[in-house]
Amino acid sequence: MSGFVMTVLGPADPAGLGAVDAHEHLFLCSPALPGDDFGDVDSMVAEVETVRAAGIDTIVDLTPVGLGRSVPGLAEVSRRTGVHVVAATGYHRDAHYPAGHWVYREPASVLEEVLVADLTGGVDARDWQGPTPAPTEHRAGIVKLGASYQRASAAERTRLGAGAAAARRTGAPVAVHCEIGTLGPELLDLLAAGGVPAHRVLLAHLDRNPDPGLHAELASRGAYLLYDTVGRIKYRPDSVLLDLVERMVVAGHGDRVLLGTDVGRRSQLRAIGGGPGMAVLGETFVPRLRAQVGHDAVDAILRANAWSALTWAVV
Ligand SMILES: [Zn+2]
Repeated sequence: MSGFVMTVLGPADPAGLGAVDAHEHLFLCSPALPGDDFGDVDSMVAEVETVRAAGIDTIVDLTPVGLGRSVPGLAEVSRRTGVHVVAATGYHRDAHYPAGHWVYREPASVLEEVLVADLTGGVDARDWQGPTPAPTEHRAGIVKLGASYQRASAAERTRLGAGAAAARRTGAPVAVHCEIGTLGPELLDLLAAGGVPAHRVLLAHLDRNPDPGLHAELASRGAYLLYDTVGRIKYRPDSVLLDLVERMVVAGHGDRVLLGTDVGRRSQLRAIGGGPGMAVLGETFVPRLRAQVGHDAVDAILRANAWSALTWAVV
């Protein structure tokens, strides 16, 4: 089987994904975000309905191992809303795992096999927190990894290596959390050393450091620039992000840009009384971007770019 995207409901034709929001979380629980966990299916169905009404057809849930991931929940949300959902496996940065967590203890070979099992067999029903694996019928479609601000710790390097190996073996794409947009070049080097070329990598949160020169350099290497803090005004106005996308399009890197909102807190979800809500991308940002860079550029970003970024390589 070649040229597919793996959704929680099975392999899909990339072009069938429609418009893609490339970074969200539908179920999340992390010690790094105390009191901000969420994961109620009915609420997430309501939230995703607003996303669909705003013109988004596919959501990529980038929740890695041990952060409250619920792949049966993702499948139910997908079935009830008709929105495609791509689930992740992988490991986040150290801040999301308490001291003593097995991700610090297990050897790289075990860390790698956990991811390969989620990608090829089915994601563990208990998110690898139970005594024995219980594979579901839902496979992960992308490997999510992460590093700390300005540095990757030894433990993070081990997990990045395990994630790269799992991606190399399976052909799955890789998304990597760049804390406040840092470490992009180093993370591409690390992943390339593990057998994952830059064109298989989505660099998340680069828009936290909206530096057009740096981004052009990363795009020239082939990496996808995942601008995923749309609507997060505390970071900077959306106008900065609109200008950044325009700079990339004008510089010929429009084919490397992806968009998402990365709603990762209860307080950001409209269905449970927060804001701006996951629909801010389709409702507010996309119309402004269309006015600024034109329909063709926006359609490429939401569709063709995302389709190729999420398609598994033949191994
Ligand atoms: Zn995220």
